[in-house]
Amino acid sequence: MKSFELIVPCYNEEQALPYFLDTVVPILERIDGCESSFIFVDDGSRDKTLEVIRSFAEKDARIKYISFSRNFGKEAAMLAGMRMSSADYVGIIDADLQHSPELIPEMFRAVTDEGYDIAAARRIDRRGEAKIKSAFSRSFYKLINKISDANIEEGAQDYRIMNRKVVNAIVSMPEYNRFSKGIFSWVGYKTKWFEHENRERVAGTTKWSFWKLFSYAVDGIIGFSTAPLKLSLIIGTCTSLLGFIYALYTIIKTLCFGPDVKGYPSIICAILIVGGLVLISLGITGEYIARMYMEVKNRPDYLINETNITPDIKGQ
Ligand code: UDP
Ligand code: MG
Repeated sequence: MKSFELIVPCYNEEQALPYFLDTVVPILERIDGCESSFIFVDDGSRDKTLEVIRSFAEKDARIKYISFSRNFGKEAAMLAGMRMSSADYVGIIDADLQHSPELIPEMFRAVTDEGYDIAAARRIDRRGEAKIKSAFSRSFYKLINKISDANIEEGAQDYRIMNRKVVNAIVSMPEYNRFSKGIFSWVGYKTKWFEHENRERVAGTTKWSFWKLFSYAVDGIIGFSTAPLKLSLIIGTCTSLLGFIYALYTIIKTLCFGPDVKGYPSIICAILIVGGLVLISLGITGEYIARMYMEVKNRPDYLINETNITPDIKGQ
């Protein structure tokens, strides 16, 4: 009998969780020939999420959970779930039912019977989302695909089912600054895409503010591309070249027509522009160094405060 485990990252999801289980449990029960279970990862929720999960776990042995000591982010939650799971097939799904759970049986079939390693979902519309957010996110995908070696499908989500091979590959990647969309695409393997429509969250609110998304995008670009470093080199070279040409022009002009005391504004402009470019280059370098610093520290990705997963289930 094959085993299938669904990892559910939860941060302040006390309202959504009962709906989630009511919807997803019957769907999993309909899949034949597989033993399914859940790993809920409470990512340091401030509401009653952990109590809700604990009470479900008491009633149902298929429900396992991990609770972090504080909020470590969805990336850490997904990683913890994948590390703790020993199932043959592992799925990841959001707790808010925005990831159409009715796709699970079809996605599961793709990895068990159709020879795919990954079944992944992609949303085809961005209804119910602010226009500016969609525009930013579209340009982000265009940019990252152009300048990095990870090829991320537009609208690709963390909603996916993978076989053991893929899970082992992902878990074996030691980086601290994790950008799952990049990691999922970087490991490769045969992927079948499932398209679905965006829908409203069943309860609760989104945990992603504009700035959180922006820093997530920066993480993605810096984690999977060194192009920004080259960009500062190119811009720096161009401006220095312009500076040299201008200097040459000024020298020749002074030799021919005598000294010119005017030109104060142009000097200020040059100082400001070049100074700004130097700071931008330093900033870009700094972003990489900051990430290297975090990698070198080798801190754990998360700290577990409580779990009902026993070591032998973990396969340790
Ligand atoms: N989540 C998490 N840790 C966080 C933020 C979010 O585990 O720091 C979980 C959240 O509980 C949900 C999923 O990640 O199950 C997606 O979050 P959300 O629905 O807020 O994102 P959106 O769908 O708005 O992109
Ligand atoms: Mg959501």
